[in-house]
Amino acid sequence: MSKQSLTLIGLGPMGSAMADAYLAKGYEVTVWNRTASKAEPLVAKGAVLAPTVADALAANTLVLLSLTDHQAMYAILGRATEALEGRTVVNLSSDTPAKSREAAEWVNGHGAAYLTGGVTVPPHRIAGPGALTFYSGPHALFEEHRATLEVISAADHRGEDQGLAALYYQLQLDIFWTSLSSWLHAVAVAKANGISASDLLPYASGTLASMPDFLGFYTPRLDEGNFAGDVERLSMGLASIEHVVETGLDSGVDSSLPTAVMDLLRRGFDAGRAEDSATSIVELLGRPSA
Ligand code: NDP
Repeated sequence: MSKQSLTLIGLGPMGSAMADAYLAKGYEVTVWNRTASKAEPLVAKGAVLAPTVADALAANTLVLLSLTDHQAMYAILGRATEALEGRTVVNLSSDTPAKSREAAEWVNGHGAAYLTGGVTVPPHRIAGPGALTFYSGPHALFEEHRATLEVISAADHRGEDQGLAALYYQLQLDIFWTSLSSWLHAVAVAKANGISASDLLPYASGTLASMPDFLGFYTPRLDEGNFAGDVERLSMGLASIEHVVETGLDSGVDSSLPTAVMDLLRRGFDAGRAEDSATSIVELLGRPSA
């Protein structure tokens, strides 16, 4: 085989980090970006800037996309659909499972193969330890390109349904955004009381580091539908989160985030789950709210 090569479209922080990783591994990398100037540091390292999207697609069979969302993909590839024939498009842009399935159909409809990807680490961790990307789509196609995809991170193929990589990715971000926001709320309360984020850091880190123990304990129970209140009861959880909300409000801090949690536990309480585990709210979440 000749020197390995690929095209990378989208040079935000993530696409640029990926291009860097491929160049470092000796790949021939053709790039295209709406804002062409973002290609300059990569061109200095040996990347080729394609003058048009059609040229970028013509340069290589394998085309990686790193864009804000799938709408950007249509905006870019829509102007060169004839050049998609025979390509393999790996879309590493965030979007919903439904939009990922639509995107796959659209690309397939233009004669190209397609994989969905969801990158779970920030740009500075691309090609580093612990980096992971979810993939979905045809398994044989994934295996064909696995070695190349593993340059940027470990590659975890979740199934043939094109929505699966996006779903696993969104599940991680569901956890990420609420966890990050809860920490920021705690920092705001700490600061309102003269405690710095640095003072809080070891304790906040300890609390987050304890989470896998909770997840490990409750996961088999959640899968069995076991909501026994033998370790903690929802009524205790409700009283606890009420104290969190009150502490935040007493500190003059917007406490809408813990208030949302308090409202959920209250719904569980009102639904007769006071003696069950607080984790029983997962059953409420699975239903439309009243
Ligand atoms: P950005 O949003 O910063 O940039 C992505 C690229 O999308 C840019 O090249 C931008 O072009 C292009 N783009 C956006 N809209 C259009 C459009 N309408 N037409 C043409 N080009 C468009 O994203 P990141 O690089 O930070 O991330 C890329 C993907 O990776 C995203 O889906 C993100 O959710 C995901 N991701 C990001 C992480 C991060 O920490 N950054 C972590 C994990 C996943 P231009 O330069 O011209 O604006």
